[in-house]
Amino acid sequence: MPVAHTLEGPLSVDVLGRQDPELAEILLGELARQSTTLQLIAAENFTSPAVLAALGSPLANKYAEGYPGARHHGGCEIVDVAERIAVERAKALFGADHANVQSHSGSSAVLAAYAALLRPGDTVLAMGLPHGGHLTHGSPANFSGRWFDFVGYGVDPESGLIDHEQVRTLARTHRPKAIVCGSISYPRHIDYAAFREVADEVGAYLIADAAHPIGLVAGGAAPSPVPYADVVCATTHKVLRGPRGGMLLCGSELAERVDRAVFPFTQGGAQMHTIAAKAVAFGEAATPAFTAYAHQVVANARVLAQGLAAEGLAVTTGGTDTHLLTVDPAPLGVDGRTARGRLAAAGMVLDTCALPHPDVRGLRLGTAALTTQGMGEAETARIAVLFATALRDESAGRGVREEVRDLTGRFPPYPAQ
Ligand SMILES: *Cc1c(COP(=O)(O)O)cnc(C)c1O
Repeated sequence: MPVAHTLEGPLSVDVLGRQDPELAEILLGELARQSTTLQLIAAENFTSPAVLAALGSPLANKYAEGYPGARHHGGCEIVDVAERIAVERAKALFGADHANVQSHSGSSAVLAAYAALLRPGDTVLAMGLPHGGHLTHGSPANFSGRWFDFVGYGVDPESGLIDHEQVRTLARTHRPKAIVCGSISYPRHIDYAAFREVADEVGAYLIADAAHPIGLVAGGAAPSPVPYADVVCATTHKVLRGPRGGMLLCGSELAERVDRAVFPFTQGGAQMHTIAAKAVAFGEAATPAFTAYAHQVVANARVLAQGLAAEGLAVTTGGTDTHLLTVDPAPLGVDGRTARGRLAAAGMVLDTCALPHPDVRGLRLGTAALTTQGMGEAETARIAVLFATALRDESAGRGVREEVRDLTGRFPPYPAQ
């Protein structure tokens, strides 16, 4: 199948090419990079041409502070409909009473959740950053660590699983105002009921930061945090496959506080092109095709975990329930950073990450993007072999690079029409 070198239509890069060839070349270069290397970054995916069309639309021109029917600007009657559709689709998709689709990113959604429920100086219990917490879960370099008093729970160094006894003990000791569950690298389903129980025991709010698994939730391939958490924060661009952005879900009693926490407290004008693109993505996520996709993502991740384990890598928790896994390449004689470099040279793009054993950097991989390209278990099993080959022997990188080029050529993310 030929790879598209332009995105078709009146909003195509052809227009840019005539006006500004320098920038057009960068857009095409990035398309070529994404199309000829393997995107194993667990947080990435390929949005559909329909989502890209909404993002590149004149809705980008519109100022729309406020909410549908209550804007601070004129001329919002059409974009209001876009936002109402996005909200209704999100509520239906996740079975939530209320959805706010204005958050510019996952981090903005978390900031808004804290703003809705907390005051500066409050104590918050969240997964510690060395164990897989996000920057917004108390990093000193982030607003969260500066404005709140974070206490970190961890994972068991042997099993790699969340230590629920530790969560309970820390909650009883520190009496947090909120407990955050969610991670950038936890490969297993989160036991939301267990977190709810602890939150209830100490009178804390439960915030689920489901940035990673929310797309699996949409496709029925992971448990939903919506029945358990007071507020669910999420991104729309990871497994969910929408535009880069965030959202919040909550019950009707917190709806007004959450909305005010997003606008006017932490954000200004809503990005209506992104909100329209979110609506398109929610529409896609409600289809049987997306349900099949979400289950295939998990099936592929399991095959990848098995394959890497068979090649001798140490797979955290022994496998995965989700789209992501983390591995320690040390048994193959390389550390995480060296491994990332060798894999990049071989055309496999991924991140290093924290591992349950402190001070060891591992690798985090995900299958959301390659599954969107149409790759299945056979291709994923082959990727595990190529992965280990590139790690074991630096000189094998060239051959692996050629096979990656061939594989991605057979599964183009944006096939030419
Ligand atoms: C990705 C992620 C975020 C932040 O998303 P951005 O859009 O990059 O701000 C927040 N929390 C968790 C757990 C994430 O995985």
